[in-house]
Amino acid sequence: MEKILLIEDEPGLIATLSKRLESHGYDVSISRNGSDGLDEAINHWYDLVILDIMLPGMDGFDICRDLRRHKEHLPILMLTARGQTIDKVLGFKLGADDYQTKPFQMAELVARIEALLRRSNHGENLASSSSYRFADIEVNFRRAEMRRNREVVDCSAKEFQLLRHFILNKGQVLSREEILNTVWGYETVPNTRTVDVHVARLRQKIEANPGKPSHLLTVHNMGYRFDG
Ligand code: CA
Repeated sequence: MEKILLIEDEPGLIATLSKRLESHGYDVSISRNGSDGLDEAINHWYDLVILDIMLPGMDGFDICRDLRRHKEHLPILMLTARGQTIDKVLGFKLGADDYQTKPFQMAELVARIEALLRRSNHGENLASSSSYRFADIEVNFRRAEMRRNREVVDCSAKEFQLLRHFILNKGQVLSREEILNTVWGYETVPNTRTVDVHVARLRQKIEANPGKPSHLLTVHNMGYRFDG
Protein backbone atom coordinates (compact mmCIF):
# COMPACT_ATOMS: atom_id res chain seq x y z
CA MET A 1 0.00 0.00 0.00
CA GLU A 2 1.50 3.31 -1.04
CA LYS A 3 1.64 6.02 1.58
CA ILE A 4 0.60 9.57 0.81
CA LEU A 5 1.04 12.55 3.12
CA LEU A 6 -1.50 15.30 2.58
CA ILE A 7 -0.39 18.68 3.94
CA GLU A 8 -3.52 20.78 3.71
CA ASP A 9 -5.56 22.93 6.07
CA GLU A 10 -8.92 23.13 4.33
CA PRO A 11 -11.29 20.69 6.10
CA GLY A 12 -13.57 20.11 3.11
CA LEU A 13 -10.68 19.34 0.80
CA ILE A 14 -9.03 17.09 3.38
CA ALA A 15 -12.23 15.07 3.73
CA THR A 16 -12.84 14.72 -0.01
CA LEU A 17 -9.23 14.00 -0.88
CA SER A 18 -8.54 11.45 1.82
CA LYS A 19 -11.78 9.60 1.13
CA ARG A 20 -11.10 9.44 -2.58
CA LEU A 21 -7.45 8.49 -2.26
CA GLU A 22 -8.29 5.77 0.24
CA SER A 23 -10.85 4.40 -2.18
CA HIS A 24 -7.98 4.10 -4.68
CA GLY A 25 -6.07 2.01 -2.17
CA TYR A 26 -3.67 4.62 -0.81
CA ASP A 27 -2.77 4.94 2.84
CA VAL A 28 -3.36 8.64 3.58
CA SER A 29 -1.93 10.65 6.48
CA ILE A 30 -2.84 14.26 7.10
CA SER A 31 -0.97 17.28 8.44
CA ARG A 32 -3.03 20.44 8.86
CA ASN A 33 -0.12 22.67 9.73
CA GLY A 34 2.90 23.48 7.55
CA SER A 35 5.72 22.93 10.04
CA ASP A 36 4.13 19.74 11.40
CA GLY A 37 3.78 18.50 7.84
CA LEU A 38 7.44 19.13 7.12
CA ASP A 39 8.51 17.24 10.26
CA GLU A 40 6.21 14.38 9.41
CA ALA A 41 7.50 14.13 5.84
CA ILE A 42 11.13 14.25 6.91
CA ASN A 43 10.82 11.74 9.72
CA HIS A 44 8.57 9.11 8.17
CA TRP A 45 8.48 7.20 4.96
CA TYR A 46 6.04 8.43 2.32
CA ASP A 47 5.74 7.53 -1.33
CA LEU A 48 4.34 10.93 -2.22
CA VAL A 49 3.47 14.26 -0.63
CA ILE A 50 0.55 16.47 -1.64
CA LEU A 51 1.37 19.98 -0.55
CA ASP A 52 -0.87 23.02 -0.34
CA ILE A 53 0.76 26.45 -0.68
CA MET A 54 -1.19 28.58 1.79
CA LEU A 55 -0.81 26.86 5.14
CA PRO A 56 -0.63 27.85 8.79
CA GLY A 57 2.80 27.52 10.33
CA MET A 58 4.89 27.43 7.19
CA ASP A 59 4.01 27.94 3.54
CA GLY A 60 4.20 25.29 0.85
CA PHE A 61 7.18 26.85 -0.91
CA ASP A 62 9.37 26.79 2.20
CA ILE A 63 8.26 23.24 2.95
CA CYS A 64 9.03 22.17 -0.59
CA ARG A 65 12.54 23.62 -0.49
CA ASP A 66 13.39 22.15 2.91
CA LEU A 67 11.86 18.80 2.11
CA ARG A 68 13.82 18.53 -1.11
CA ARG A 69 17.06 18.99 0.83
CA HIS A 70 16.19 16.05 3.05
CA LYS A 71 14.46 13.75 0.56
CA GLU A 72 15.64 14.35 -2.91
CA HIS A 73 13.63 11.53 -4.52
CA LEU A 74 10.32 12.04 -2.75
CA PRO A 75 7.61 13.00 -5.28
CA ILE A 76 5.98 16.31 -4.33
CA LEU A 77 2.73 17.42 -5.90
CA MET A 78 1.74 20.99 -5.11
CA LEU A 79 -1.79 22.37 -5.02
CA THR A 80 -2.07 25.87 -6.41
CA ALA A 81 -4.90 28.29 -7.08
CA ARG A 82 -5.99 28.78 -10.66
CA GLY A 83 -3.74 30.91 -12.84
CA GLN A 84 -0.85 31.24 -10.41
CA THR A 85 1.73 30.64 -13.14
CA ILE A 86 4.39 32.47 -11.22
CA ASP A 87 3.80 30.14 -8.29
CA LYS A 88 4.21 27.12 -10.51
CA VAL A 89 7.54 28.35 -11.84
CA LEU A 90 8.76 29.10 -8.33
CA GLY A 91 7.60 25.71 -7.10
CA PHE A 92 9.40 23.88 -9.88
CA LYS A 93 12.56 25.77 -9.00
CA LEU A 94 12.16 24.71 -5.39
CA GLY A 95 11.81 21.09 -6.43
CA ALA A 96 8.14 20.23 -6.80
CA ASP A 97 7.50 17.46 -9.33
CA ASP A 98 4.05 18.41 -10.48
CA TYR A 99 1.15 20.75 -9.90
CA GLN A 100 -2.54 20.53 -9.54
CA THR A 101 -4.50 23.72 -10.01
CA LYS A 102 -7.48 24.22 -7.68
CA PRO A 103 -10.34 23.67 -8.17
CA PHE A 104 -9.82 20.29 -9.80
CA GLN A 105 -11.54 17.08 -10.76
CA MET A 106 -10.53 14.23 -8.49
CA ALA A 107 -9.89 12.03 -11.52
CA GLU A 108 -7.27 14.49 -12.76
CA LEU A 109 -5.50 14.59 -9.42
CA VAL A 110 -5.52 10.81 -9.14
CA ALA A 111 -4.03 10.56 -12.65
CA ARG A 112 -1.22 12.93 -11.65
CA ILE A 113 -0.52 10.97 -8.49
CA GLU A 114 -0.42 7.70 -10.41
CA ALA A 115 1.94 9.20 -12.98
CA LEU A 116 4.29 10.52 -10.28
CA LEU A 117 4.33 7.23 -8.43
CA ARG A 118 4.97 5.34 -11.66
CA ARG A 119 7.92 7.59 -12.42
CA SER A 120 9.47 7.18 -9.01
CA ASN A 121 8.75 3.45 -8.90
CA HIS A 122 10.51 3.00 -12.18
CA GLY A 123 13.58 4.42 -10.55
CA GLU A 124 13.79 7.44 -12.71
CA ASN A 125 16.02 10.03 -11.29
CA LEU A 126 13.78 12.58 -9.65
CA ALA A 127 16.87 14.17 -8.13
CA SER A 128 17.67 15.80 -11.41
CA SER A 129 14.09 16.88 -11.94
CA SER A 130 11.86 18.75 -11.96
CA SER A 131 11.38 17.25 -15.34
CA TYR A 132 8.44 16.70 -17.58
CA ARG A 133 7.98 13.94 -20.12
CA PHE A 134 5.71 13.51 -23.06
CA ALA A 135 6.03 11.24 -26.10
CA ASP A 136 9.78 10.84 -26.68
CA ILE A 137 10.58 14.21 -25.13
CA GLU A 138 11.98 14.94 -21.69
CA VAL A 139 12.23 18.52 -20.48
CA ASN A 140 14.44 19.22 -17.50
CA PHE A 141 13.48 22.51 -15.88
CA ARG A 142 16.42 22.80 -13.54
CA ARG A 143 18.98 22.22 -16.23
CA ALA A 144 16.99 24.07 -18.88
CA GLU A 145 17.52 21.10 -21.13
CA MET A 146 15.37 19.19 -23.58
CA ARG A 147 16.04 15.65 -24.76
CA ARG A 148 14.43 13.67 -27.52
CA ASN A 149 15.00 9.95 -27.38
CA ARG A 150 17.58 10.77 -24.72
CA GLU A 151 19.59 12.97 -27.11
CA VAL A 152 19.96 16.61 -26.11
CA VAL A 153 18.09 18.89 -28.49
CA ASP A 154 19.60 22.26 -29.21
CA CYS A 155 17.16 24.91 -27.98
CA SER A 156 17.45 28.67 -27.70
CA ALA A 157 16.65 30.22 -24.33
CA LYS A 158 13.41 31.62 -25.72
CA GLU A 159 12.35 28.30 -27.20
CA PHE A 160 12.94 26.66 -23.86
CA GLN A 161 11.04 29.35 -21.96
CA LEU A 162 8.19 29.06 -24.43
CA LEU A 163 8.04 25.28 -24.09
CA ARG A 164 8.12 25.58 -20.32
CA HIS A 165 5.27 28.08 -20.44
CA PHE A 166 3.22 25.67 -22.55
CA ILE A 167 3.94 22.77 -20.22
CA LEU A 168 3.04 24.76 -17.12
CA ASN A 169 -0.27 25.65 -18.76
CA LYS A 170 -0.95 22.27 -20.25
CA GLY A 171 -4.43 21.89 -21.69
CA GLN A 172 -5.21 25.60 -21.64
CA VAL A 173 -5.61 27.75 -24.73
CA LEU A 174 -3.02 30.54 -24.66
CA SER A 175 -3.44 33.59 -26.86
CA ARG A 176 -0.45 34.96 -28.75
CA GLU A 177 -0.68 38.16 -26.72
CA GLU A 178 -0.62 36.30 -23.43
CA ILE A 179 2.37 34.25 -24.56
CA LEU A 180 4.18 37.34 -25.75
CA ASN A 181 3.57 39.18 -22.48
CA THR A 182 4.63 36.27 -20.31
CA VAL A 183 7.54 34.80 -22.23
CA TRP A 184 8.94 37.93 -23.85
CA GLY A 185 7.71 40.51 -21.37
CA TYR A 186 9.26 43.88 -21.83
CA GLU A 187 12.56 42.72 -23.28
CA THR A 188 11.84 43.72 -26.84
CA VAL A 189 8.99 45.03 -28.90
CA PRO A 190 8.20 41.92 -30.88
CA ASN A 191 4.84 41.24 -32.44
CA THR A 192 2.65 38.19 -32.21
CA ARG A 193 4.30 36.84 -35.37
CA THR A 194 7.35 36.21 -33.17
CA VAL A 195 5.27 33.70 -31.23
CA ASP A 196 4.27 31.89 -34.42
CA VAL A 197 7.88 31.67 -35.56
CA HIS A 198 9.00 30.20 -32.25
CA VAL A 199 6.09 27.78 -32.13
CA ALA A 200 7.05 26.58 -35.62
CA ARG A 201 10.64 26.03 -34.47
CA LEU A 202 9.51 24.16 -31.37
CA ARG A 203 7.29 21.93 -33.47
CA GLN A 204 10.31 20.95 -35.52
CA LYS A 205 11.96 19.83 -32.30
CA ILE A 206 9.14 18.10 -30.43
CA GLU A 207 6.64 16.84 -32.99
CA ALA A 208 6.86 13.56 -34.88
CA ASN A 209 5.18 15.34 -37.77
CA PRO A 210 5.64 19.13 -37.43
CA GLY A 211 3.11 19.76 -40.19
CA LYS A 212 0.48 17.82 -38.28
CA PRO A 213 1.28 18.57 -34.65
CA SER A 214 -0.13 16.40 -31.91
CA HIS A 215 1.25 18.31 -28.90
CA LEU A 216 1.58 21.97 -29.80
CA LEU A 217 -1.80 22.63 -31.32
CA THR A 218 -3.15 25.67 -33.10
CA VAL A 219 -6.56 26.70 -31.79
CA HIS A 220 -8.25 28.56 -34.59
CA ASN A 221 -8.68 32.30 -33.92
CA MET A 222 -7.55 31.85 -30.32
CA GLY A 223 -3.93 30.84 -30.06
CA TYR A 224 -2.18 27.64 -29.05
CA ARG A 225 -2.68 24.78 -26.70
CA PHE A 226 -0.17 22.23 -25.42
CA ASP A 227 -1.28 18.65 -24.93
CA GLY A 228 1.37 16.39 -23.56
CA1 CA B 1 -4.63 26.26 2.39
